[in-house]
Amino acid sequence: MNTTPPTEKPESSVKEVDWSDFRDHIATADREGRRQWIYPRKVSGKFFRLRTWFSWLLLFIMFAGPFITIHGNPLLLMNIVERKFVVFGQIFWPQDMIIFAIAVLIFAVSILVFTTAFGRLWCGWACPQTVMMEMVFRKIEYFIEGDAHQQRALNQAAWDGNKIAKKISKHAIFYALSFLVGNVLLSYLIGWQQLYQIVTDPPAQHVTGLAFMIAFSLLFYGIFARFREQACTFICPYGRLQSLLLDENSIVVAYDYKRGEKRGILKRAQKFGERRFAGFGDCVACNQCVSVCPTGIDIRNGTQMECVHCTACMDACDAVMTKIGNPRGLIRYASLNGIERGEHLRVTPRLVAYSVVLLALATALGLMIFTRADVEATVLRAPGSLFQQMPDGHFSNLYTVRIVNKTSRELPVELRLESPAGTLQVMGGQLVVPAQKLLENSVLIELEPAAMKSGTTPLVVGVYAGGKKLQTLKTAFIGPRN
Ligand code: SF4
Ligand code: SF4
Repeated sequence: MNTTPPTEKPESSVKEVDWSDFRDHIATADREGRRQWIYPRKVSGKFFRLRTWFSWLLLFIMFAGPFITIHGNPLLLMNIVERKFVVFGQIFWPQDMIIFAIAVLIFAVSILVFTTAFGRLWCGWACPQTVMMEMVFRKIEYFIEGDAHQQRALNQAAWDGNKIAKKISKHAIFYALSFLVGNVLLSYLIGWQQLYQIVTDPPAQHVTGLAFMIAFSLLFYGIFARFREQACTFICPYGRLQSLLLDENSIVVAYDYKRGEKRGILKRAQKFGERRFAGFGDCVACNQCVSVCPTGIDIRNGTQMECVHCTACMDACDAVMTKIGNPRGLIRYASLNGIERGEHLRVTPRLVAYSVVLLALATALGLMIFTRADVEATVLRAPGSLFQQMPDGHFSNLYTVRIVNKTSRELPVELRLESPAGTLQVMGGQLVVPAQKLLENSVLIELEPAAMKSGTTPLVVGVYAGGKKLQTLKTAFIGPRN
């Protein structure tokens, strides 16, 4: 047996981090893996103004959403506990799961199509995380603690009255807002009426609801006060999908390296002609695009996973270009092919394929919603029950009928035994299904022996409302074997 210890270390499969290569590490961690806090500078400009206006609209929709109703139904409701889902006022019951599944598929394919064509436009303009972080929480932080350099100085300063007051007021407002956001989310899940009950009833009656309320508030506070851009970098799967979805024709926030390189600071009184002659491009290496970036990256390195397409670097660079008298758009919405070859958005085979799938799914969904019945009923023999013979010689079977009323009005429903001849008796009188509810009732069906087959007789029951037939149900009647 060889007992000689190995003299050479086995070759490590772990690659050393190259700290000079931005692809080897993330901008928000140092060499020890500690969090590098990002202090993005305040930004202003055309895109920021447009995003601000757009964010007001989105915030209005987001906060008003639970109170907006369409035909008496909420805009959006995802009540998992009661298995009730409402999208744009349309109620989806567990029986509609196939419709719901297709709607989810459409959503996923839309993301594919949209991202392939327009990159992460959603992240920068419409994602609730970006909108809340950049347009609400960040602005409050600027208001209380000042711009990036003032925030940095405040964090490094000793704790005094000023610092304590600023930190307490900032975090108190952050928590209050997070509580509000958490409650809005809860009202999307359970409806605002139920949320109102949780708030107004004695706490002991809604321990679970209150626990969710606190958990959501703490979660959002944690995200917006501390976790921030890491939610996009580490948690959100959409950012990770970028490398799969983007191609050289996708429109992204891009630095025009052909125009910008080679970068170099603009010397005092230097003319651009001289500068170009010396081999320099339009980038004056001012780092303004980096200093405003909320994810701490340098877009001049190319498209990166961390980039949420917030357009801050576009505004910052445009301001610099305007100041030095150069055309704007050194950082702009463009595709790689657009920058390299001056091409506009091209319809690629991949985009066509995604669009065809999307169209097919949308057509299927439209048809299913259009042909979806307002009422859905099922009839089953009552479990464990056998047939009974009545004193007049007729036989009877007991059934359980379940009727879902998908409309927003109360619906009187009538059941008629259509085949064979016999009688159908609803236990407890007329069937009236409350709006958007499920009604369960017992039904007794009697057949005379002449109408029965040996053993099992097929039955056809019609479901009627307002004299109109809504559904035909088929079941079986059990009787004696001859
Ligand atoms: S802001 Fe524009 S000019 Fe300044 S470093 Fe960035 S790309 Fe270059
Ligand atoms: S690189 Fe530009 S667009 Fe991307 S996150 Fe940073 S500032 Fe926003």
